[in-house]
Amino acid sequence: MANGIEMRKFNRNLVYRVLLSQDEMSKQEIARATGLSLPTVTQNLQELVEKGLVEETGSLESTGGRRAAGFRCIRNARSSVGIDITQHHIRIAVVNLAGEVLCESERERFQFRDDDECYTSIADKVKAIVEETAVDTEGILGVGLSVPSIVDRSHNRLTYSRIIDAPADVARKLEKRLPFHVEVYNDAKAAGYAELYETDTQDGHEELCFYLMLSNSVGGAIINNSEIYLGYNGRSAEIGHVRIVPDGKECYCGQKGCVNAYCSAKILSQETDGELEVFFNELEKGNEKYRQLFREYLRYLAITIINIRMICDGLIIVGGYVGAYMKDYMEDLKRMCAELDPYSNSADYLKPCSFTHDASAVGAALYFVGDFINNL
Ligand SMILES: [Zn+2]
Repeated sequence: MANGIEMRKFNRNLVYRVLLSQDEMSKQEIARATGLSLPTVTQNLQELVEKGLVEETGSLESTGGRRAAGFRCIRNARSSVGIDITQHHIRIAVVNLAGEVLCESERERFQFRDDDECYTSIADKVKAIVEETAVDTEGILGVGLSVPSIVDRSHNRLTYSRIIDAPADVARKLEKRLPFHVEVYNDAKAAGYAELYETDTQDGHEELCFYLMLSNSVGGAIINNSEIYLGYNGRSAEIGHVRIVPDGKECYCGQKGCVNAYCSAKILSQETDGELEVFFNELEKGNEKYRQLFREYLRYLAITIINIRMICDGLIIVGGYVGAYMKDYMEDLKRMCAELDPYSNSADYLKPCSFTHDASAVGAALYFVGDFINNL
């Protein structure tokens, strides 16, 4: 049973979220949309104005009688930064309270090393993008660091890191060079969070969803009731190490036949010197060798997907580097999945990702925004 304080918090949160989803609203419109009384809406708006999160605007269109005052959220009142880092690349994004990407850098070649020079260089890039975005540094909620590692979220540390040479306390080491708090996240969980945020704000939430990240490593995130389910050790949804071929190709984990060895983006991009875009351009032009390779890739991907589907029976989002190019091939993939399905002859549960290139960076930043709004 919610007590008075919880109820007040719930109402304030509700008013803020409803207003955030629109450009501008009158008190009456907010009351209608939330089902709260006009005095409750007025009180909450006043508190939000005092916190510097909402402002009164001019008057809204007259509907006959008095013109109603409008309110809107100050979307840039707070912002956060997300960094997606791999062994060889870095990408940084800045988001505001509405989850809008205010600024993002190109995916840049970068050599990660556990030394002073490297952390200083990352910190300088963060400071530069913050300056470029022209957001108030006082309003920055924090910096989220996305890494292709297993993360112990309760201690903000890495517990397993084989594909990036990062130490357990990578967040603390970066934080020392920045005036902001740094939290570290698994890359697939961060990307899944970005997709969750998008789905929640656009289409209403999906109860159960699996985000499949097909990047240079394969990972996943289970989204359950608008939250990422991490598991007891932060190792949930590690679909990359599910074995699909007995004694198959070697995975970086030391085991054989893992999904990683068949469905990582590298399987395709290694043909084109690491450039996945070139692979898909050539594929579209009808390159026969690439067509065969992609067909084989889809075959293993369909096996992976049907295995996920048999376990979770929910929506599956195909994301990561490969997911960004999958839109044109979704029908082929759906057909291949349906052929493997004992219960259904369609695979409409499959969906391409919304974020095609920066999901992990955006998601790592959005965690701060989500937390801030939840605790208003
Ligand atoms: Zn493995």
